[in-house]
Amino acid sequence: MVNIPPIHQHGFFRKFCTEMRQVFDSDFFPEGADAVRQRPDKFEFRRALPFIFLHVGCLAVIWVGWSPVAVLVAVALYLVRMFAITAFYHRYFSHRTFRTSRFGQFLFAVVGNTAIQRGALWWASVHRHHHKYADQEEDRHSPGVYGFVWAHIGWMTSSRNFPTDYTQVKDLAKYPELVFLNRFDLVVPLIYGILLYGLGAGLEAWVPSLGTSGWQMFVWGFFISTTVLLHGTLFINSLAHTFGKRRFPTTDDSRNSLLLALMTLGEGWHNNHHRYMSSARQGFYWWEIDITYYVLKLFSWTGLVWGIREVPKIVYDEANQMRLTTRHKKAV
Ligand SMILES: [Zn+2]
Ligand SMILES: [Zn+2]
Repeated sequence: MVNIPPIHQHGFFRKFCTEMRQVFDSDFFPEGADAVRQRPDKFEFRRALPFIFLHVGCLAVIWVGWSPVAVLVAVALYLVRMFAITAFYHRYFSHRTFRTSRFGQFLFAVVGNTAIQRGALWWASVHRHHHKYADQEEDRHSPGVYGFVWAHIGWMTSSRNFPTDYTQVKDLAKYPELVFLNRFDLVVPLIYGILLYGLGAGLEAWVPSLGTSGWQMFVWGFFISTTVLLHGTLFINSLAHTFGKRRFPTTDDSRNSLLLALMTLGEGWHNNHHRYMSSARQGFYWWEIDITYYVLKLFSWTGLVWGIREVPKIVYDEANQMRLTTRHKKAV
């Protein structure tokens, strides 16, 4: 009689289960997270798949078409989610530049998670590392060291950058709800996609005059809005270290750019930010448009956030000094 082992002992079945767990559990590394961090820095197809999926998905617009309501929803979701990334993933979780309630931080961690830029803890751990080693060899996304394309998106396809370094975010890792969102970072995007499809299908059934459908809303709200949002955010790693003006002679290549600030709701004032990262304000003057900061100010009047940290006088004095030095150099 042939002895067939139970299915869970089957090599293929076990491999399949490991693969599946790796897809959904971002903290699961059979060989250990440290071993993954030691791997060579190179493009890996499996890590690039989510980004390929996002970009290819945009092409589906050929079949679903467009409608004013679908485009409007995509734009609105871009703005809301860009705010979640800049105000919360960046200025709150990475830099603690203001305070909010435990529910507030959870809510915006969920909204930020729909951007498919992984969990807030991974994002903050990578970003804190960036500030520590900006434009040095250790920096994972320096255009000066590794070239523009690698600094823009290539570094995210390298396995060694995948594990969350919880030692960098001990202050955030004490909240189990944030760790859950970070560990299972596909759950929220999945729910987000289903809700968008449901919205489109609902509108098609109840308000057919709007001319939308489940798939059309899904393509615009999920694929197109998220892909543009992804590149908008990634431009801060690539373009904001390449193009623009430098007010402060920081040790990195960070730049200030109005165009990038408009696209990212204020993140384009990157040289300001590298000079003083502990402020919630990145546009240091009224003419440096910083929508995220204005919205945070509005929020503070309603009590949703508080303890907003401003730019100290010493930094403004330094900026004035820089302006005088530049004027003097021009005059000579
Ligand atoms: Zn930077
Ligand atoms: Zn920063």
